[in-house]
Amino acid sequence: SKEEVSQLRTPIVCVMGHVDHGKTTLLDRIRGTTVAQYEAGAITQHIGATEIPLSVIQQFCGSGFKANLMVPGLLFIDTPGHHAFTSLRSRGGSLADLAILIVDINEGFQPQTIESINILKRFKTPFVVAANKIDRIPGWRPVENAPMEKSLAGQTERVVETLETKIYELVGELYKYGFDSNRYDRIADFTKTVGIIPVSAITGEGIPDLLLVLVGLAQRFLKQNLVIESSRPGMGTILEVKEERGLGTTLDVILYDGMISVGDTIVVGTPREPIITKVRALLKPRPLKEIRSEERFTPVKHVVAASGIKVSAPKLETALAGSTIRVVGEGEDPEAIAKEIRSEIEAVRIDTDTVGVILKADTIGSLEGLVGELRAKNIPIHVADVGPVTRRDVIRAAAIKDPLLSVILGFNVEILPDALSEIQKLDIPVFQSDVIYTLLESYEEWMEEKKM
Ligand code: GDP
Ligand code: MG
Repeated sequence: SKEEVSQLRTPIVCVMGHVDHGKTTLLDRIRGTTVAQYEAGAITQHIGATEIPLSVIQQFCGSGFKANLMVPGLLFIDTPGHHAFTSLRSRGGSLADLAILIVDINEGFQPQTIESINILKRFKTPFVVAANKIDRIPGWRPVENAPMEKSLAGQTERVVETLETKIYELVGELYKYGFDSNRYDRIADFTKTVGIIPVSAITGEGIPDLLLVLVGLAQRFLKQNLVIESSRPGMGTILEVKEERGLGTTLDVILYDGMISVGDTIVVGTPREPIITKVRALLKPRPLKEIRSEERFTPVKHVVAASGIKVSAPKLETALAGSTIRVVGEGEDPEAIAKEIRSEIEAVRIDTDTVGVILKADTIGSLEGLVGELRAKNIPIHVADVGPVTRRDVIRAAAIKDPLLSVILGFNVEILPDALSEIQKLDIPVFQSDVIYTLLESYEEWMEEKKM
């Protein structure tokens, strides 16, 4: 019914997968095709995200739509860097309601595919697999933006067979990680089986199917999670902390519940004490057609979930990417909310006297991911925290007697100058990367060498 339409919020979708498997190209294609083929005005501009309204998806997918549809559209998060997906968390678990795990069908599972699977598993995020780059199958005849059924009808038997083989290889890989899967058009129950959708982010083939399956999944399994009262105090995840000319420090936020307004008191997560401040401005990107304007942003008074928004407020300098932003509702105590947000960070941080490595990461999400991976490998952790590598970290690493554990692992963080001189003086091994897999691999390789 009409009433339900207004109550469901837009599901948040994120694209995950190994570097170069096509995340950016797929998002560009979804955005580009839908923008190019239909009224550009229908695509709402967001900060850090793109919203594709249901009407546009419906047009794009043609007759494919039969369901009784109620979600207003899909909000795709533009993962800015390849490390960013690890920080896409929310209070309830994953910030994403749904995920697309993209796999280059010619390469199969790669390290970051596995990292992504582990994150999806941990957060219990429903996902589909986009088996990408099908246009690279030898002999493939592309049919621009075609639904899979139409595209397959034009392929030779040999090509179809190759595709089948590659899909079954993915089915095998997914099974290893505990997921039953199948080609999406052979699935009766999407709660039990993960759908694999062959696509090409270059030709657009299979993208109508991908959008349809996503909307279907949201309709069937997320309805409960998507019911919102827009009047509820806003709740969001900080994607990025950014300096903007004339605005100072701002937050790029995905609001996943409720509403935020100019003048609202907000509580913002930091590595230590949360910030309590007031919203000075809420900014959306200026529509592309208004090219004459010097301003990059349009101010708005209110924003309702789900939405990508830039928040300008005083005192945001120490805000932490990946942590929470909360609007303080009427009658709520900001200090109590601050305590809650602080405990989210405390829950991930490790600070004990046991023997183990020193781990520093850029966001709570990445820290949480790393702690999980290290635990899975039985590598003890002495300190796990967000922020740059400090002199104190080096001294604590030096105090660890086990030479294999007297090390620092840094994920996408800088080393402060006084820490650097201490590292040289005390000769502490430091491993750094912005890919979880690479970081752990280089440390493990070093351990193997040391043991010999
Ligand atoms: P990301 O690192 O996952 O964001 O991957 P990109 O989107 O940057 O893609 C990596 C490379 O693969 C680029 O050169 C793309 O043009 C190419 N690529 C992505 N999707 C496809 C596809 O469906 N077919 C083909 N042939 N190339 C693709
Ligand atoms: Mg990319």
